[in-house]
Amino acid sequence: MQRLSLAGLAVLLHVLWADRREIIGPRLRDGAITLGILHRLEDLPVGWSDTAQEAAQYRVVPRADSARFGHVTGPLSWKRWLFLPEEVLFRAVRDDQDGGFTLSATPTAPLRAFLGVRGCDLAAIAIQDRIFAHDPAYCARREATLIIAINCLEPGGTCFCASMETGPQARGAFDLRLTEWLDAGTPSYLVESGSAAGRKLLARLPIEACTPEDQARVEQALAQAATRMGRQLDTGGLAERLAARPGHRHWQQVAARCLSCANCTLVCPTCFCSTIEDRTDLSGTTAERVRRWDSCFDLEHSYIVGGNVRADPAARYRQWLLHKLAYWHTQFGTSGCTGCGRCITWCPVGIDLTVEAAAVAGSEA
Ligand code: SF4
Ligand code: SF4
Repeated sequence: MQRLSLAGLAVLLHVLWADRREIIGPRLRDGAITLGILHRLEDLPVGWSDTAQEAAQYRVVPRADSARFGHVTGPLSWKRWLFLPEEVLFRAVRDDQDGGFTLSATPTAPLRAFLGVRGCDLAAIAIQDRIFAHDPAYCARREATLIIAINCLEPGGTCFCASMETGPQARGAFDLRLTEWLDAGTPSYLVESGSAAGRKLLARLPIEACTPEDQARVEQALAQAATRMGRQLDTGGLAERLAARPGHRHWQQVAARCLSCANCTLVCPTCFCSTIEDRTDLSGTTAERVRRWDSCFDLEHSYIVGGNVRADPAARYRQWLLHKLAYWHTQFGTSGCTGCGRCITWCPVGIDLTVEAAAVAGSEA
């Protein structure tokens, strides 16, 4: 572990820009800490926090220090740049000479760096890597993306990554991992590399040595953060307990509140439902196949040969929760939930995955 000063963080950004990488990171915009393109160091949300999240509640508040990463997860996740909300899978253009069609080539992937990926979101990227392992465009974008993770020392009110074993320490496929450390309100960054690309990047930065005490302080702060999660979920035997209760009365109680708005699936960093549209232009010369995000809360999503197999909101919520917390284990070998808390914060009626799962799993129907 080594240390970067605040000026060193600026050097990191300039090195990435010099490598012609687009940097995606946290920004304060429209009253939320969201993700977007960073053009300068000052674009980071200096001195702002959003940790006081609750079910259906989100506010940014000023901090008493100049932390750049003193927040948790906002409405956007990194999947926005890897699994695109809308993507042309291929385009066919009619050849005027022979009447045949020419198919477009796979698009190129821009060089990018993700700055400030938390443990829950790093785990979500790892999940989507498995889902899209055979999607050439996703794989090209992923290959072109450098990941700079950040350890989470101040969890938010709807966070439960400790329960899902995805945080607060950022673990997994990162290139660099930062820990923002505040001394008298001024941040510096403890930094570790996690890949060959990360080691090369680190060699170009003005790093300083860390002491064993620095390392011990970070470990202690991470251990304390794990005890301060706003939410918890008892995952012991959870998949089996949920799957055994398809007729539990609580599904109907959730459905009575659920608006089927799909917010929970759109903010979720692991949800991957999509729909396919074929479009042609009016002249009939160009046709394209487009994939766009869809949601299992959308009535049309489960329309199969003349009928909808999940016609009421109770069936759709049950499908979503059971897929996340039960069937995902069979399908992908992990939970589909990383404990980021977004679906709780951004549900307009405050439906809370941790509460609803416990209500179904913890009692007989
Ligand atoms: S289900 Fe909710 S808490 Fe879990 S990863 Fe998705 S948005 Fe985050
Ligand atoms: S659970 Fe909440 S966010 Fe999800 S569809 Fe229902 S009302 Fe919308």
